[in-house]
Amino acid sequence: MDLLEQIKAAGVVGCGGAGFPTHVKLAAQGIDTLIINAAECEPLLRTDRWIMVHEPAALVAAVAAVRARLGAGRAVIALKETYTAETAALQTAIAAAGASVELVHMRSFYPAGDEQVVVYEVTGRVVPPAGLPLDVQCVVSNVATMLAVHNAAQGRPFTQKYLTITGAVPRPCVLKAPVGMSFADCLTLAGGSLEDDYIVVSGGPMMGKPFTKEEAAHLFVTKTTSGFLVLPSTARLWQNHVTPTNHIRNRAKSACIQCSFCTQLCPRYLLGHPLETHKIMRRAAGARPLKDQLDDPVIRSAQFCCECGVCELVACPMQLQPRKINVMIKHMLAQQGVRPQKGACGLQPRPHREERKLPTGKAANRAGVGKFYHTEPQAFLKAQPKRVCIALGSHIGAPALPIVQPGDKVVLGQVVAMAQEGKLGADYHASVAGTVTSTDNGVVIDTFF
Ligand code: SF4
Ligand code: SF4
Repeated sequence: MDLLEQIKAAGVVGCGGAGFPTHVKLAAQGIDTLIINAAECEPLLRTDRWIMVHEPAALVAAVAAVRARLGAGRAVIALKETYTAETAALQTAIAAAGASVELVHMRSFYPAGDEQVVVYEVTGRVVPPAGLPLDVQCVVSNVATMLAVHNAAQGRPFTQKYLTITGAVPRPCVLKAPVGMSFADCLTLAGGSLEDDYIVVSGGPMMGKPFTKEEAAHLFVTKTTSGFLVLPSTARLWQNHVTPTNHIRNRAKSACIQCSFCTQLCPRYLLGHPLETHKIMRRAAGARPLKDQLDDPVIRSAQFCCECGVCELVACPMQLQPRKINVMIKHMLAQQGVRPQKGACGLQPRPHREERKLPTGKAANRAGVGKFYHTEPQAFLKAQPKRVCIALGSHIGAPALPIVQPGDKVVLGQVVAMAQEGKLGADYHASVAGTVTSTDNGVVIDTFF
């Protein structure tokens, strides 16, 4: 099988974001630069760093194979200058393999791992607003995806996820978990919660999705889960999450001082994109309802927002929520079928971009998770849960359809759900051996143990 066929057969999807099927992304043509995003820019997550230190040979082999498949002249692993152990491990692996893979070091700033930011850092090219790295002849993938590609090339399907469990837990760890393992089982391995009243963030503190303790009881590891953070329920990001939208807009009306800090620190604005969030806030604070302003180009520029959270968690001195206003506008526009208009190539970054880069530690402090910022995972654990629940729609595209029935016995790696014919999607495989007990809401497998 060709590498792309192996990746497709293994059900690999992007581990770093929304889960775009990897065999489709890597079928791109006309690419001159493959970039592996190794910034892991969300404060607190340590998964990619763990992989770089402990699986460097596999990572380098996958990067070299993908570069060759794409026909790209350049393959780059882009990481932070502070990642010394990771750099040493990769340099050794690159030398041992004789691979044509470069390391590019970035400063430790947030969001260094934003796809469009990393493209600029590596190539000096600005991806157009609402565009893709493909528009500037780049493909961006990430560390965990490359590890899955390496496994696929060895005939091993995508059934295991590395993820960080950290925050208010006694034993912060990097965990190798079967896809479908419950958050509760993950928390048990990390020693439980140190807080009686806690919330759980799936992902990082800046862009992750928060859940109540009760909601978290229904969370499972998916192909795109990068980590779970356990935080006190008083965490600022939770307060932001639960603030009602009418309250957010009323606060914008009464408290936005038009200082423009939200714009001045916005990573997309700094790349040269036409996104001036303070102007959006001015309109949101006006008397006209947002729904009546959707044809205003300034309002529509909210579609260029990557939802990184810098404006609301760091920049705004009035603790307003420009990101949420942008998200609101994006939803309204999407409901009306208004797609973002791709901008031109060749934009130049703003002159002050370098000095306005936000140190990652400061981002963590402002997000209210500073006390966990220097926590290093104490352990690497291989989990063996008694039950998994494999969600079949954790990728971009149509959900996969189960091909097993309750009562079926499955072995590890067996296909349990297939991508829909002719639609963007990915196959799913049994992440444990056991008996299928339900296919109603994902494929549930009870192990034989
Ligand atoms: S969330 Fe705020 S800072 Fe981030 S891209 Fe959107 S407007 Fe800019
Ligand atoms: S930073 Fe806050 S107060 Fe200043 S313009 Fe932006 S939303 Fe308004």
